[in-house]
Amino acid sequence: MDDRLIFEKSDSGIKASYVKKPEIGLKEPKEILPANCLRSGLELPSLGELEVVRHYTNLSKRNFSLDTNFYPLGSCTMKYNPKINEELASLEGFLNIHPYQNEECLQGALELIYNLETLLCEITGMKRFSFQASSGAQGELTGMLMVKKYHKVMKNKKRKVIIPDSAHGTNPATSSMCGYETKVIESDKDGLIDLDKLNKAVDAETAAIMLTNPNTLGLFEENILEVAEIIHKNGGLLYYDGANFNPLLGVTTPRLMGFDAIHLNLHKTFSTPHGCGGPGAGAVGVVDKLLEFLPVPLIDKKKDDFYFNYKIKHSIGKVRAFYGNFSVLVRAYAYLLRLGREGLVRVAQNATLNANYIKERLKNDYNVASNKPSMHEVVFSCTKQKEKGASALDIAKRLIDYGVHPPTMYFPLIVKEALMVEPTETESRKTLDYFIDSMLKINKEIDENKEILHNAPSAAYVKRVDEVKAARNPDLRWVREK
Ligand SMILES: *Cc1c(COP(=O)(O)O)cnc(C)c1O
Repeated sequence: MDDRLIFEKSDSGIKASYVKKPEIGLKEPKEILPANCLRSGLELPSLGELEVVRHYTNLSKRNFSLDTNFYPLGSCTMKYNPKINEELASLEGFLNIHPYQNEECLQGALELIYNLETLLCEITGMKRFSFQASSGAQGELTGMLMVKKYHKVMKNKKRKVIIPDSAHGTNPATSSMCGYETKVIESDKDGLIDLDKLNKAVDAETAAIMLTNPNTLGLFEENILEVAEIIHKNGGLLYYDGANFNPLLGVTTPRLMGFDAIHLNLHKTFSTPHGCGGPGAGAVGVVDKLLEFLPVPLIDKKKDDFYFNYKIKHSIGKVRAFYGNFSVLVRAYAYLLRLGREGLVRVAQNATLNANYIKERLKNDYNVASNKPSMHEVVFSCTKQKEKGASALDIAKRLIDYGVHPPTMYFPLIVKEALMVEPTETESRKTLDYFIDSMLKINKEIDENKEILHNAPSAAYVKRVDEVKAARNPDLRWVREK
């Protein structure tokens, strides 16, 4: 296989295709554009069409993806996204609309957003949703900007946000970006919120707590009602990081737990292929007291017509251009309609069952971060393996040789040698067994042949990289092992 970059394969003068010159009317760019708008010296590769097709098809075969292998990346919900949703998102009427079109000719799209909002309100107990944010992190920022404006309008003097030490890294980042001081509280020995520590951390200056439930250890915060009471009593709000909502679908709602604002990652929980920064949607939902702060516009309905509503009293404004990543909303809507109420409950049950199945079958060989029952993910702590000379990183790399994508590593930060496994609801028993057996075999390999772990992966295109060098001094060229 020719491993050169497409730029290196370039053969100047070759064009990808031939189109016959039109007999009339075609002008050269320099006849139409002013000289300062003409570009020259663009070093784009020149290749034949077939060479381009082969170049990219061969590259795509080296991709590790959900369509090729098991991908148990904790806290990321890498699950099967039905192909039918791709087809629906590509329907002409959805694909070829433009945000500058008039409302009258966007009625179908607006109705879809409106209906999706209604469904998500039912699923979460929130009153309304905004779909502008393009990612979970941006959803958090949107939600916390609303929290901030709420306190401003209410003339509450608030400057601190409480975040448990098990939180996703985007939570403290969001709090800082909103200008808040972040107060981190340590989890208790089970990995849950420590109510004593929370009580000590909260005061009249507490603007909010940012939480996820289940937390990043995959555990349900059993004391969530007490947490809500403590925060609310001090005039603070509860923000819910609902990036991975699978295990709660149809089971309970953030509203019942006492949350005031939430985001859902539609691209994780509600079916859109994601990763590598592909388009996402951080749907932000709020309860009554934050309605007046939502970004503009919302989609509302007057008689039978849907319209963009810009009249939101204390709106934080816009958080991005136009109305969000619409095609992600189409996929989420299709996914919800297809599964329905019962299907969604089964998603939650299977996500939870799969994680606990893995936990039970591996817990004698690998330490678990908590003995409490898991929700949708399970965190192992490879300390026994580390003592024998193989780190969580070695195990993760060795999994690649078994054709499994490494689980999330060294997160959450509070677990030593963490491997965080989220199998999702869409994997079969057979696949889970294969993963479990691979983990058991790897554990045996540590005693028999540690070297094989230290040198893993050996069956992949790219072998073990020097992680520090790769970060400090990246070489983005493809170099094939001789
Ligand atoms: C993925 C994730 C986020 C961030 O979502 P992005 O879309 O990647 O910005 C936030 N919190 C949790 C718990 C997540 O898993």
